[in-house]
This record gives sequence, C-alpha cells and structure tokens, in this order.
Amino acid sequence: MQLTATANLPKTSYPADDAFRLLLAAVIGPPGAGKSTLVADLARIAGVPVFRLRQQVRARPELLAGLAPKPDPLGWISLEAVRRVLHAVFVNGRFAFGSRVVLLDNFPGTAAQLELLAETASRTNARVALLQLHANTPTVVTRVAERRVCLACGPDQHSPAVHADHDPERCAFCGAALVRRETDAPRLHELRLARYLANLPEITECAAEQGIPHLTVDADADLTEVCRAARRALHHLLQSADPSGSRP
Ligand SMILES: [Zn+2]
Repeated sequence: MQLTATANLPKTSYPADDAFRLLLAAVIGPPGAGKSTLVADLARIAGVPVFRLRQQVRARPELLAGLAPKPDPLGWISLEAVRRVLHAVFVNGRFAFGSRVVLLDNFPGTAAQLELLAETASRTNARVALLQLHANTPTVVTRVAERRVCLACGPDQHSPAVHADHDPERCAFCGAALVRRETDAPRLHELRLARYLANLPEITECAAEQGIPHLTVDADADLTEVCRAARRALHHLLQSADPSGSRP
C-alpha cells in the first residue's frame, strides 16, 4: 500500500509544561483497521519512535524468566510479562528519551494493560493518550483479505508491504513474493476481532476513569485520509496541555 506524505507535524511552540512531557500515544483498533500502516506513516513522516510489545519481548527474553509459558493460539502475553517489559523499556531503558511522543503499536489490548501503561507513565512523568481507529467489520475483513507482507524484508513482518509497480504480488524493494500474515487467516482474524471488540468497552471505561485523553479516528475512510486524520489527532494531543484532554 503506497501512502502519500502530505504534512509534517507542525513544529510550533507549546504553551504549557505538560506539552513537553513525553506523550505515550497508544494506537488501538480492530485487526485490519490500518494500525501498522498508520504507525509506519507517522514514524516515517514525523520520525516518531514506535513501541511494539512483541518486538520488545523478543529482544528481552530474560524478562520472561520464571514465568510459566501460557499457550495461547492468539499469542497473548501475560500481564506480568507486560509489566516487566514496560518497566524495562520505559523506566529502566528510558525508551525514546528526549522525544516528545512515542507511538504504541496495537497496545494496550486490555484495560489491565492500559492501567499498567498509566502506572509506568506516572513513574516517568510521561502522559498517555489513546488513539483509537474505528472501522466497521466489512472494512477490516476486506483490508485483511487484501493485505500482504514481505517475509524477506523483515525484521518486522507486520509492516505492510509495498507492492512492485510491475507486479502487485511482489515486494517493491526485494522482489520477493508477498504473502499473507499468518494471523490474517480468516478464522484467526475473526477471533482477534472478537477479542478486540470484547475488550474495547473496558479499555474505554478505564481511560475515562484515569482521565486519559481518548481520540477516535474514522478508519473506514481511504487509508491515506486515515493517516492524515491521525496526524491531526496526534497534533491535537501534543498541543493539548490539559492532561484530562478531550473525549470523542
Ligand atoms: Zn521485500
């Protein structure tokens, strides 16, 4: 999927101290809403660092020492493992220190994870905001059926592939044949979507209770427009000095 860059995040001056605290912008949405595309777009256009839970777990296997392996067909990670990773990355590791914003790709997945994130943020004087992509089921089913990744271009096999001009089934960078993500198989996608929809109300409620700003972006639109709207939402979050923020 090719995206067009239209605007940078404006580099204006901000009025209150809160605006200078690191913003942990949690990007959530149903599988297939375009989170990876959006996050890759913001990372590329605005140079925003990205936190991916699974990547961090893979990079720090020692953190999971002593935790019972929890077999889960959807690859769920235990809450204790999440707590250890967040602490190692943001408190001890000072991930993205000096940046104004970090994007959390597809995290949190539950209200309990959001609580852990808020707790981690409070230890480092960071603030948290939710950026929710809202897309209807037909939209995400269509996107998932169409999307491909390049296993040869790794290491992040979740990154949406760029199709070659001469052959849409091949990678524009390396020419390898593009494939579906394993987790995009229809049955698995259905389960992931159901889990997301089941967890969303408690995530929303938790954000409200904790005074976490919660912005919604309409992700049924064309993905280029979704990325534009998300850039505007992020800009709004960066400008908002009031930590209680606005809700949709
Ligand atoms: Zn490739």
